[in-house]
Amino acid sequence: MTSEFDIIRKYFTRPAPTAVLGVGDDCALLQPRPGMMLALSTDMLLAGRHFFPDAEPGKLGHKALAVNLSDLAAIGADPRWALLAIALPESDETWIAAFAEGFFRLAERWALELIGGDTTRGPLAISITAIGEVPPDFALRRDAARAGDDIWVSGATGEAALGLAHLNGRVRLEGAAREACLARLHTPEPRVALGGRLRGIARSAIDVSDGLLADLGHVLEASGVGAQLTWESLPRAPAIAACRDEALAKECLLAGGDDYELLFTALRVKRGEVEALAKDLDLPLTRIGSVTPGEPEVTVRDARGDSILVARKGFDHFG
Ligand code: ADP
Ligand code: MG
Repeated sequence: MTSEFDIIRKYFTRPAPTAVLGVGDDCALLQPRPGMMLALSTDMLLAGRHFFPDAEPGKLGHKALAVNLSDLAAIGADPRWALLAIALPESDETWIAAFAEGFFRLAERWALELIGGDTTRGPLAISITAIGEVPPDFALRRDAARAGDDIWVSGATGEAALGLAHLNGRVRLEGAAREACLARLHTPEPRVALGGRLRGIARSAIDVSDGLLADLGHVLEASGVGAQLTWESLPRAPAIAACRDEALAKECLLAGGDDYELLFTALRVKRGEVEALAKDLDLPLTRIGSVTPGEPEVTVRDARGDSILVARKGFDHFG
């Protein structure tokens, strides 16, 4: 039997050159760079609730970190460090090795260092705390949207939810559409580079984890403003555009979670800068509407100006 300490030493201990002290002591010690604020975020993934219990461990390692990197990106922070708390039903070394590989492959791409955590036996659960840095006054807070701002979204939303609908048997995807949607669902790409580059360009931002309308709703609530979106302007991934179940495609586009795109608002005078950034990052950034004065509500209008009815805004664990 591999002990808890063998697991930590073998799979979760890596050099952490920018930490004062990494894995192995009672606490990690960090010294943020001069003039930087720390940005901290925790997300928990539970087997059976956030992923299928038989999920591929390598993909799970990636996704568990990706969702946390996405939160750092959404506030405009550069990723620096992470803590990993993991409960494992058994010490299956093949599983743990694959999980660690998925985790560290993504971590290394952003020079993120694992500096501590906790390892225990129990029903499979993963909780990661990500720590980043952002210069004061540049954090992209949810409460900073103002009436008149443009609303932008990166990439396209809905593919992850369409992938889940496929796995749940609600739709049958084939070929490239299936590949794209399942990749989105299992190995999302957090918009880390975009988040950092939006500092000084965007006013407020959020990552789309619960659904486009639901997450925009969080920004509107926090900022005390409303929003109007144009239906035709919403970016559609090929799989969404090709989906023959129109109601499902619409639901995925507007209310599907797990895409980890960034939704942000910016002054109109920043349009040129946002467009230049899209080119630079080779990532579509689409203007989908504007922030309005008034109640924190979203209206979606089509080209004729008619309002589109939406049945479900997004995902809520207690909804
Ligand atoms: P303590 O008893 O002080 O909580 P632990 O025995 O839980 O310490 O952990 C020993 C060291 O290993 C600590 O530095 C802790 O941060 C680190 N650690 C434990 N589990 C993990 C993990 N899954 N990933 C990274 N570091 C871990
Ligand atoms: Mg401990």
